[in-house]
Amino acid sequence: MFQKVLIANRGEIALRIQRACRELGIQTVAVHSTADADAMHVRLADESVCIGPPPARESYLNMAAILSAATITAADAIHPGYGFLSENADFAEMVEAHGLTFIGPSPAHIRMMGDKIEAKTTLATLGIPLVPGSDGAVSSLEAARRVADRIGYPVLVKAAAGGGGRGMKVAEGPETLEQAFRLARAEARAAFGNDAVYLEKYLDKPRHIEIQIFGDSHGHVVHFGERDCSLQRRHQKLLEEAGSPAITPEVRNALGERVCAAMAQLGYRNAGTLEFLYQDGEFAFIEMNTRLQVEHPVTEMICGIDLVREQIRIAAGEELGYSQSDIGFYGHAIECRVTAEDPQTFAPSPGHVTAFHPPGGLGVRVDSALYAGYRVPPHYDSLVAKLIVHAPSRAQAIARLRRALEEFVIAGIKTTLPLHRRIVEAPEFQSGDYNIHWLERFVANQSKEEGSG
Ligand code: ADP
Repeated sequence: MFQKVLIANRGEIALRIQRACRELGIQTVAVHSTADADAMHVRLADESVCIGPPPARESYLNMAAILSAATITAADAIHPGYGFLSENADFAEMVEAHGLTFIGPSPAHIRMMGDKIEAKTTLATLGIPLVPGSDGAVSSLEAARRVADRIGYPVLVKAAAGGGGRGMKVAEGPETLEQAFRLARAEARAAFGNDAVYLEKYLDKPRHIEIQIFGDSHGHVVHFGERDCSLQRRHQKLLEEAGSPAITPEVRNALGERVCAAMAQLGYRNAGTLEFLYQDGEFAFIEMNTRLQVEHPVTEMICGIDLVREQIRIAAGEELGYSQSDIGFYGHAIECRVTAEDPQTFAPSPGHVTAFHPPGGLGVRVDSALYAGYRVPPHYDSLVAKLIVHAPSRAQAIARLRRALEEFVIAGIKTTLPLHRRIVEAPEFQSGDYNIHWLERFVANQSKEEGSG
């Protein structure tokens, strides 16, 4: 087992990883920018190293500075968290070249799944169904027109290197294809330095359902069930549930088995998430994330397992030590992503937190690096807290979520807590009858009502 792990991240996820390390008896090294000198992840780590100025590209994305920090503190492994360098195959390679362990999949698998076109091609050969679309990259408008005519409008133009909902444009019909094609390419070039795009049929009422898998280096692969992440705004998740209100245990097991067989064939190691769209009883693969997900706690709650601990154990070469039949699913869990944003306009709201009172009680978990007196810096992702509830049934989980949201106080900055309170009251949410487009309309209607009232 490792003696010391450097955590190449900040915020709630850096704390989350520290907690797992501490329980395993592993020392932790925090890295931070000058803007984060007072951050909770720095205060709670055993050691910390300042790696640069506030802009992420000069600090949390600065590979040389992070590797130097690992060397001078004699860390023997690096956990990248999510975002930043977590899906950077070059970084994973460099970590290993320095004789350290990268806590994650092999660089080859990170690279393969980071190219969404290659990911789809690979998974198709392993028998996983895909969303209908182009066969590979589409390099000209004429080629895009031919594909769109074949699969039918509306279509979605997507960046091969895409992530975070960027480089993705819908064309409702032939007249908007040119614009969608040009915009998606320009956005992809600006965001990822790679303007390769592909086309997919734009599904009208899918749910986003993903499967959490884990592989060890001894050929074993298991799944930890699904998460339903259909509540999204601008293709970004806002609230997640495990399990999905839309599928039965039989459907979960059938999909899980298929996915595990594919991942075993690939020799996949460590944590991974396969994302699917689910519509009319059919699953269609869209992408794979080769890292820990923001929404991993809902899976932890229903499976009773510490997924970060599993990542660390597997990276250290240990066997999973259990099989699929040992993994149970108990009750229902829901996570709300609370961001420092105006709950109506979504304008960023960094600044001074004057009060922080997280909810508590049975089945309530808050993953956050906030504290009263902390100043949320304007340079990074706006996620400031994750509220997770767990209860024996979905109805009880919703009652618990409503109660926990009422208790939760974050003062001094605007947050999306009021939006979550409204979502919990919506009949569509309560019945579980929603798809990926529902929240967008719900948010738009709320602002209209506010405007007229
Ligand atoms: P990113 O990597 O940028 O997050 P994804 O491919 O994971 O992009 O898609 C993000 C979200 O966009 C999905 O969860 C879904 O809501 C929506 N989406 C993606 N592909 C399609 C599609 N073919 N039809 C409808 N919605 C889609």
